[in-house]
Amino acid sequence: MACSEFELIKRYFHWPSNDESIAKGVGDDCALLNIQTLGTGGEQLAVSMDTLVAGTHFPDDATAAEIASRAFCTALSDLAAMGARPLWFTLGLTLPSTNEQWLQEFSVSLKTISQHYHCALIGGDTTRGPLAVTIQVHGAVNSPLQRSRATAGDQIFVTGTLGDGAAALRLLQNKMTAQAGDGEYLKQHFYRPKAQIAAGQLLSHYIHCAIDISDGLLADLQHIANASQVDMDIQVKQLPLSPAYKNTVGAAQWQLAASGGDDYQLAFTVPASQQVKIDHLITHQQLNASAIGWVRECSSDIPQVNCYDGERALDITTRGYQHFAS
Ligand code: ADP
Ligand code: MG
Repeated sequence: MACSEFELIKRYFHWPSNDESIAKGVGDDCALLNIQTLGTGGEQLAVSMDTLVAGTHFPDDATAAEIASRAFCTALSDLAAMGARPLWFTLGLTLPSTNEQWLQEFSVSLKTISQHYHCALIGGDTTRGPLAVTIQVHGAVNSPLQRSRATAGDQIFVTGTLGDGAAALRLLQNKMTAQAGDGEYLKQHFYRPKAQIAAGQLLSHYIHCAIDISDGLLADLQHIANASQVDMDIQVKQLPLSPAYKNTVGAAQWQLAASGGDDYQLAFTVPASQQVKIDHLITHQQLNASAIGWVRECSSDIPQVNCYDGERALDITTRGYQHFAS
């Protein structure tokens, strides 16, 4: 790497930290981490990586600050889905050119959002090429939430509201219009999705199965169904929708909320033994979540996610996220 690029890393991505788990962060060939600080309770290290490519995962005209917050929050969402506590992250940055103003805006946004989640930047790689951002997050987890742990009889819940990411995508693609306040809310959700870290950690004390909704509720529930070998029945009228979604897409338009991507909420399943506890957390506003269906025994060799309106089975054609470019 050229010296000027090393200077650039030092200027924009060297954020000294007092975190005692970090013996050495940015600056040498490797970061050095004191893993004994992970805790004495047998915590495991949770690691996940996500890449965002310009024009595919965000529009070409997204600002540097928007790209940074979206890249970080979408990567962090995977830690939330396992119930992990954020520790550190690394940053792979591919840049078409060295634009100092862009880097300044990007690094300030990334620093602000990552400090909010107590997740420290410990290293990375910087190369030249079409704009892309890769973030690898590391977290610690005691009782990981896993896709394979759903069982027949569990109730299915989701945190927050569904469809905001998909509605935002349509606004950004000019396929939809919204009133100013609603448009702002939805775009904010797209560029700064709230990774459900607190909800994931709370849930990990009581249940065993969750996933974050990145590709769309039905597509992501299908991952649970496959991994757990169960069917899942969803009541579409129970899908939680935000006021902005209802105003923009329509209060009766559950399809986009069921199949659109970019929500970064958690879907989780609750066994009968824990239902009182989870209901208590929801009633006392310690957890923002809604019941949307039930886990059933597999009715065939192939696990199914079915949608119902009351007793009526519905036919769903689109089940997953469509890339920005499509
Ligand atoms: P090497 O050539 O030995 O792989 P580099 O010269 O690429 O190392 O990186 C030097 C230091 O800067 C390393 O500590 C690396 O982790 C860090 N680094 C490089 N790019 C970034 C980045 N985009 N964000 C944070 N740290 C980075
Ligand atoms: Mg080296």
